[in-house]
Amino acid sequence: MSSGAPQSADIAVVGGGIVGLAVARELLARRPSATVCVLEREPQIATHQTGHNSGVIHAGVYYVPGSLKARLCVEGAREMYEYCERREVASEHCGKLIVATENSELERLAELERRGLANGVSGLRHVDQDEIRELEPHARGVAGLYSPSTGIADFPAVARAFAEDIAQAGGQIVTGCEVQGVSPTARRLRLSHSEGVTEAGHAIFCAGGWADRLAVAAGADPDPRIVPFRGAYLRLLPERRHLVRALIYPVPDPALPFLGVHLTRHIDGEVLIGPTALMVGARDAYRLSTVHRRDLLETLAWPGTWRMLARWWSTGITELRHAALRSAFVEAAARYVPELQSTDVLGAFAGVRAQALGRDGKLVDDFVFSHTDRALHVRNAPSPAATSSLAIARHIADEAERAFGPND
Ligand SMILES: Cc1cc2nc3c(=O)[nH]c(=O)nc-3n(C[C@H](O)[C@H](O)[C@H](O)COP(=O)(O)OP(=O)(O)OC[C@H]3O[C@@H](n4cnc5c(N)ncnc54)[C@H](O)[C@@H]3O)c2cc1C
Repeated sequence: MSSGAPQSADIAVVGGGIVGLAVARELLARRPSATVCVLEREPQIATHQTGHNSGVIHAGVYYVPGSLKARLCVEGAREMYEYCERREVASEHCGKLIVATENSELERLAELERRGLANGVSGLRHVDQDEIRELEPHARGVAGLYSPSTGIADFPAVARAFAEDIAQAGGQIVTGCEVQGVSPTARRLRLSHSEGVTEAGHAIFCAGGWADRLAVAAGADPDPRIVPFRGAYLRLLPERRHLVRALIYPVPDPALPFLGVHLTRHIDGEVLIGPTALMVGARDAYRLSTVHRRDLLETLAWPGTWRMLARWWSTGITELRHAALRSAFVEAAARYVPELQSTDVLGAFAGVRAQALGRDGKLVDDFVFSHTDRALHVRNAPSPAATSSLAIARHIADEAERAFGPND
C-alpha cells in the first residue's frame, strides 16, 4: 500500500473494501496500460463491512430468480472458491442447512428450494428429520434444505490478495485518503480528498456505508439513502462448538431475508451466533454507543426511515430485544439447536450493514449500480456482495466499457 495520492489517473476507484479492490483488479486486467488508483479513507483496506461479516460464501439460494443478486452470487461463489484455491486463501465447502422448525414454515422452505433451483444452485436438496440429524446431529426441525455448495472464506485475506494483484499489475492503493468532493471538469473528474486532488478520467465509487453521500456529491439522485444496520454476534465457548458442524440457518421471511439469527462456523474455527439487525446512529457503529450527528440526522430526515418503521415496527422490537438481551438472542437459535443455552456464549464482534433504503420505505433488496458524469456508483451492495465481488467487478467493468468506451 503506497502513500501519496497521484495527481492524475485514468481511473480512480473510491473505497478499499472487497468490491472496490475487485473492481480495480478487474480494470487493470482488462487495460494493463491504464493508470488505476484506489483511494481508501481508512489507514487500512477492508476496515468496514469486508472485515466484519459472517464469512459465508453464499450459494444463491435466497435471491429472486433473474435478479442481479441471483446471477452475480452464483457466478461469484464459483469464482471465489477458485480464486481462494489459486491464491491459497482459506476457504471451505462446508455446506449449509436451512431448518424449518414448524409445519407453517414448509411453504416458505419449498419456495426457497424453487428459487435456489431456478438460480442454478448446485446440489440443493430437501432433507427430512433423519437427514437433519445426520448432517447436524444437534439440530432439530420438521424438514430442511441442504446446500452443499455454500461455504466459508477469509474475506479480509481475499481483500489483501486482491490488493497484491493490484500492486503487481501496476495499480496504486492509497490509504488514509478520504474523498470529500467530486466535480466534473471539461474532460476529467476532480476528486478532492484529504491528500489534495486527483484528476481522473473516470471514477468508480465503491464506498459501502457512505455510497449515497459520494453519489449525491457527484450529482446523483439522493434516493436511495444508506441507513446503517448494526449486526452483532455472539460466539460459542470452545467446549460447546461441537453443537454446530457447519452452517445452520432458520427459514427467513422472504420480505426481510437478511434477518434471522443463524449459526456459522468461521474459517478460524469459532462458531458465531448472529447477527442482529438494529438501526443505529452511525455508519461505523461498531460500538452501540457510537453516534454521529450527521449520520443520525440524515437517517431521521429521510422519509423512507419513517415509512419503514411504520411497516416493520414489531420486527424492530424483536431485533431490539435480541440486541439488548443475550438470552433472547440465544433462545432464537435454540429453536433449531435446542441444547444451546445462554451460558454457552461469549460476546463477539459487530459489523454495520450498508443497507440502501428507498424514499418509499422499501429496503432495497437487489444490488444497485448507477451513473453520473464520468462516474459509476455502487449504490447498494449488501450481502452477498463479498461472495459476489469478482462477478460484481466484471459487471461493473462491462458497464464502464459501455458507459465510458473501452479506451476513453
Ligand atoms: C454483519 C454482516 C454480515 C455479512 N455477512 C456476509 C456473508 O456472510 N457473506 C457475504 O458475501 N457478505 C456478507 N456481508 C456483506 C459484505 O460484507 C458486504 O456486502 C461487502 O463487504 C461489501 O463490500 P464493499 O467493498 O462494498 O464495502 P466495505 O467493505 O464497507 O468497503 C467500503 C470502503 O469504502 C471506504 N470509503 C467510504 N467512504 C469513503 C470516502 N469518502 N473516501 C475514501 N474511501 C471511502 C470505506 O472506508 C470502506 O473501506 C455481511 C455484511 C455485514 C455487515
